[in-house]
Amino acid sequence: MIDDILKLGINEMANLNFDCYCGKTHKVHIENIIVNESALKDLERVLAGFKDKSIFLVADKNTYKVCGEKIEKELKKKRYNLKSYVFYTNSDLVPDEKSIGRLIIEVPKNTSLILAIGSGTINDICRFISYKLDIPYIIVATAPSMDGYASTVSPLIVEGFKMTYEAVYPKAIIADTNILKEAPLEMIHAGFGDILGKYTSLTDWKLSKIINNEYYCQTTVNLVEKAREKCVENAERIKNRDEKIIRQLTEALIVSGIAIGFIGYSRPASGAEHHLAHYWEIAALRNNQSHPLHGNSVGAATLVVSMIYQLMKDKIPNEIDLPDPEYIISIHEKVGSIYNPRDLGIPEEVFADSIIHAREIRNRYTILQLAYENNLLEKFSKILTEEFY
Ligand SMILES: [Zn+2]
Ligand SMILES: [Zn+2]
Repeated sequence: MIDDILKLGINEMANLNFDCYCGKTHKVHIENIIVNESALKDLERVLAGFKDKSIFLVADKNTYKVCGEKIEKELKKKRYNLKSYVFYTNSDLVPDEKSIGRLIIEVPKNTSLILAIGSGTINDICRFISYKLDIPYIIVATAPSMDGYASTVSPLIVEGFKMTYEAVYPKAIIADTNILKEAPLEMIHAGFGDILGKYTSLTDWKLSKIINNEYYCQTTVNLVEKAREKCVENAERIKNRDEKIIRQLTEALIVSGIAIGFIGYSRPASGAEHHLAHYWEIAALRNNQSHPLHGNSVGAATLVVSMIYQLMKDKIPNEIDLPDPEYIISIHEKVGSIYNPRDLGIPEEVFADSIIHAREIRNRYTILQLAYENNLLEKFSKILTEEFY
């Protein structure tokens, strides 16, 4: 049974529950995962049982245009009891106190289901509200831009700080690849960057397993690697928004979220590359500056972390396959995504500081911690800053 996990299609991973070699029971509390060219047609089937109940549709001005308005019209035509709220913010919607408060004001008191239409931010806001109000939510994905669709936590900006809050799985994920492939290319690149990050996040996990005897699950690692490799194999198709690669990318992003759920924290999906990306984002937020999409930062940071692995190769245990910077660059080039932090708009000083301080963001063992223990971070900061700036 466990060995069959790797053969499951993404839809078959809904409701998964198995005892793993690692000693844990891994579960997926998502009732429906639908990723295909006509996933939207399945929405009504997923909504069965909510026909006479009150549904609260949430979108932003972009996702409302992409498919929110159409969904609203069709459900109303079929006499669903539906109320909608669309965020018409001038600047980018932020998952903060203001947007969460706004939804609390708008959500009807007897709501039975939240129908979220969007990607990262809408999903994070609705997941959090769903958890706090104990109302299930369904996400209709509009971009393959991050791995949070199947996650159980919401990163929110609270008093200017990015914090991760406990939340819940969606009841269903509806990912219509005909909608997803039309997403802005920058968002598709971001999703790909988040997947590229698994090269270094999984290496960091293995490093910590060897050095600290940290809990490790090979089944989860195999699952994420398989999904990642399918994307990488077809990377050059991204430029043409080919349906197949968009589906593989979306599946890999969902698998990454499922892997986080298996373990109970983000270890399989987030290592030093995420610490660097978070550091850059927080620095921008503090200075009221715009910042790249999460996955675009992660994609560039993956290259940086792979270079740190090379710089430290004498100190890395033999069992570890070093992430190869040339290979990471070659994938970025196939995709057409930005891999130099400077080109991504990360200020030089922020970049230099991030190498030294990003490890402080989270108490998690990564290559940055090993470099710190060997008193190498200042040196690496100089070398890498000269390399990129
Ligand atoms: Zn396991
Ligand atoms: Zn990520």
